Amino acid sequence: MSKRGYVVRPQTALITRGFDPRMSVGAARPPVYRSSTYVFSSPEAAATAFAVALGKQPCDAEHGELIYSRLAHPNANILEDQIVALEPKAEAAAVFNSGMAAITTLFLMTCPPGTTFVYTTPLYGGTYHFIHGLLSSLGVTGIPVPAGNTKELRHAIRAALDLRMVFIETPSNPTLEMSDIGAAAEEARDRPERPLVAVDNTLLGPVLQHPLTVGADLAVYSATKYLSGFSDMLAGVILGTNVKVVEELRGLRAILGNILQPDECWMLDSRLPTVSFRMHRQSKNAQHIVESLIGHDSISRILYPSLIKDTEQLRIRDKQCRFPGGMFSLELKGGIRGAFDFLRKLNIIKNAVSLGGVESLACHPATTTHSEMTPEDLTHAGVTESLVRVSVGVEDWRDLLADIRQAL
Ligand SMILES: *Cc1c(COP(=O)(O)O)cnc(C)c1O
Repeated sequence: MSKRGYVVRPQTALITRGFDPRMSVGAARPPVYRSSTYVFSSPEAAATAFAVALGKQPCDAEHGELIYSRLAHPNANILEDQIVALEPKAEAAAVFNSGMAAITTLFLMTCPPGTTFVYTTPLYGGTYHFIHGLLSSLGVTGIPVPAGNTKELRHAIRAALDLRMVFIETPSNPTLEMSDIGAAAEEARDRPERPLVAVDNTLLGPVLQHPLTVGADLAVYSATKYLSGFSDMLAGVILGTNVKVVEELRGLRAILGNILQPDECWMLDSRLPTVSFRMHRQSKNAQHIVESLIGHDSISRILYPSLIKDTEQLRIRDKQCRFPGGMFSLELKGGIRGAFDFLRKLNIIKNAVSLGGVESLACHPATTTHSEMTPEDLTHAGVTESLVRVSVGVEDWRDLLADIRQAL
């Protein structure tokens, strides 16, 4: 809703909400508020601010005085208010100082010792490490389900004891297998514990896939990737349908001390208006390149959502994805040697991990991003030695295609 009471569309809202020039000296764009602490209007206001922060009193605009930047600060508030516009059905957001900070805080909040969670595999390497290292040592049991297997996903959610969360990464990285968010949400609703359904939406969101519209409770992002889009900062975001859950996340964030810092909030804030333009361009670029590579002699398999043949995968894709996205993987003939030679010969596309930036990057997941996985897990997940993952940027796709062709 705008100041004058009419509703504006998301692309407008993410520029107009959250900041009022009167908060500063009339600046059209938000300034950076670097202060670590805030002056109270009175000792009574200080007491009220603490009562609100500790949940002893409900929060309203009048009593929401700022206290200290580890709890909240103006740039986080502005960013959290504006970013909600990007995720249909989201009611609130919490920003963290990395994607892993968001993910670890979420798990620590939802899964106390002795409980279980269901997750899809393969997962982002850091999340995998956290689940197998810290979480399992805390007595929290993860139940893995292969990405794309709806039947097994439904069964695991029905069968788990004291289930607190379903954590889905879709499409999976680097195999781009789709998991059915709606099916997981349906099963979770039937459980007495009402486990939260969280989707790591880093690969397609927040533009090409909207998990909350198909039943998820939370959308989780490494904003280091597409959201910030220039490979020059780390950030994480969690958006939710339930304000209370997001407030609880902010509460734990204050204790863990992993709120996104003012400068980074300001940077990310300024990238939001262009995320839709960038992601559409990256998706179109990737689709042009992939479709021009079909049938190439040196490639044994191309993994990309527009090339799906499997009917179950097609069903899931059409239900929850708007566009195929800017990531694809190639399985090259010649095993690991073939993959390494390809990476060595690329000129425009750089050999680096990470994804979602305006510049194109390529990497060899089995020996880098996914090297924490055991050989069995790698095989099970379909991450072969000959697989190379490409994150397509906003360059002219014809130059990228030429670069790939000469490297092949
Ligand atoms: C990068 C990434 C993360 C971790 O985010 P950081 O910002 O690097 O901490 C989590 N999930 C996915 C899918 C990612 O690509």
